[in-house]
Amino acid sequence: MPGFELIGKEEQEEINDIFDNGGGILFRHSFDNLRNNSYKVKQFEENFKKEIGSDYALAVSSGTAALRVALSVLDLKKDDEVITQSFTFVATVEAIIESGAKPICAEIDTTLNLNPIDLLKKINPKTKAVIAVHMLGTPANLIEIKKICDDNNIALIEDTAWGCGGSINKKYLGTWGRMGAFSFDFAKTITTGEGGMVTFKNKKDFIKASAWHDHGHENNPNFPRWEDTRSGSGFNFRMSELQGAVGIAQLKKLKYIVNMQNKNKDKIWNLISPINHITLRSKPENSFETADALIFLAKDAAMALDCRNELLKFEISTKILPEAMSWHFAKQWEHIPEIHNIKGKNNYSESEEILSRCVSIPIFVNMPSDMPAKIKNAIESVAIKI
Ligand SMILES: *Cc1c(COP(=O)(O)O)cnc(C)c1O
Repeated sequence: MPGFELIGKEEQEEINDIFDNGGGILFRHSFDNLRNNSYKVKQFEENFKKEIGSDYALAVSSGTAALRVALSVLDLKKDDEVITQSFTFVATVEAIIESGAKPICAEIDTTLNLNPIDLLKKINPKTKAVIAVHMLGTPANLIEIKKICDDNNIALIEDTAWGCGGSINKKYLGTWGRMGAFSFDFAKTITTGEGGMVTFKNKKDFIKASAWHDHGHENNPNFPRWEDTRSGSGFNFRMSELQGAVGIAQLKKLKYIVNMQNKNKDKIWNLISPINHITLRSKPENSFETADALIFLAKDAAMALDCRNELLKFEISTKILPEAMSWHFAKQWEHIPEIHNIKGKNNYSESEEILSRCVSIPIFVNMPSDMPAKIKNAIESVAIKI
């Protein structure tokens, strides 16, 4: 689950450094003569690129902003369509709506991510981009999804909000598509309180996004900022130096976090896997999860609910599934007419069948030692009655 479990001294020292050595400058640009060469956001971007092996990276103010900034590169028009998956956080769809395009949600498969077969069915001449989400830390079937996007000349963006530190064939998530969008909100693998990062394959996309996220500022080195050059308007999604400083310290903990989460997830699964009527969520071959949650599929929806109720008796809460689909499943978003008024097209029956059987257990870095046994007792007591 996270950065927030491991936040403290190192982050505080990075913040103090802004005041002790960097003149207290909290803006990522300018004030060059006052800051003693202290550029925390820039440093965070450099370190992040190295860590995950991406050519370009731009820090932004949130994960939702990261998605919106990535979409800004594509100059989307009113009738353009962007396909994502039915099981995601509302932010993915909100970013598509804000970009001016129409969001289309495809079914998921048992990875709980974009179903390549349904994706192919939904692609049409209006499709301009696909946002594949690595929900709760398990990689989407990126090899198939990327091939479909390449064959149809469609931009692939990865919503890597939960996927920071995960990989397929040792290549990090967020570096497979044309762009990757990361979140550092307080519930994500690493955190800056609020914050995000966009990664890019192409320099041209990076330059365009950098300007767009900063009111169109090109940060032309030949001019002071107030006389800066511009080619188009934009918005303000800049990250502040305070967030950048925290990001530098958190990033150093990323490997430890995902390794511990995988270890703790395996501990639980090794104990409960012999129980009848449960199967583990599937994942792509040769993939490495961030293991933010352990999700298993129960025999049916009733068993999933029983598991949740039994887990609660042992003071173990579940994460999003089965109880909190309302913020994470397109079928429930009646407050978003942009997706709900597409009549007859989206009933998400395949996704619903899968999601209603899922039980998601949050994984902690500092897992209480009695947690695996409690989980086993809870689920066994349900399975025995079937
Ligand atoms: C958290 C999240 C986001 C948004 O990130 P924020 O930093 O909270 O804006 C986007 N997509 C998914 C799948 C998320 O889980």
